[in-house]
Amino acid sequence: MNKSGPPPSAPPSYAESVGGVPPSSPFVQPGQTIIVTTLVPPGPGPTHMVCPHCHAEIDTSIRSEPSLLAWISGGILALMGCWFGCCLIPCCIPSCMNIVHSCPNCKAHLGTFNSL
Ligand SMILES: [Zn+2]
Repeated sequence: MNKSGPPPSAPPSYAESVGGVPPSSPFVQPGQTIIVTTLVPPGPGPTHMVCPHCHAEIDTSIRSEPSLLAWISGGILALMGCWFGCCLIPCCIPSCMNIVHSCPNCKAHLGTFNSL
């Protein structure tokens, strides 16, 4: 195959020679506030947001439910012979719980927070 020689080494640019970085900061307009209305990443607690369904400014109402991992862990414990409530232990571990966010105004499901 046609193998060419090594490419000629380019002289270092100014930014490389001084060890700095080229100015690449994004242009931000002063005074412009970004209003986050939807798609707030749900957290472990009630999240203040604007409901994308009813457009009301709400704090999400949360409820916790056992995650899939809790059911799997409970099933494994049950298979290991831990009957009589031991298989329910994972359902009581907060890290195994999903936090389900819903709108208190229109009851819409807004997201699920998985602590894992
Ligand atoms: Zn709503």
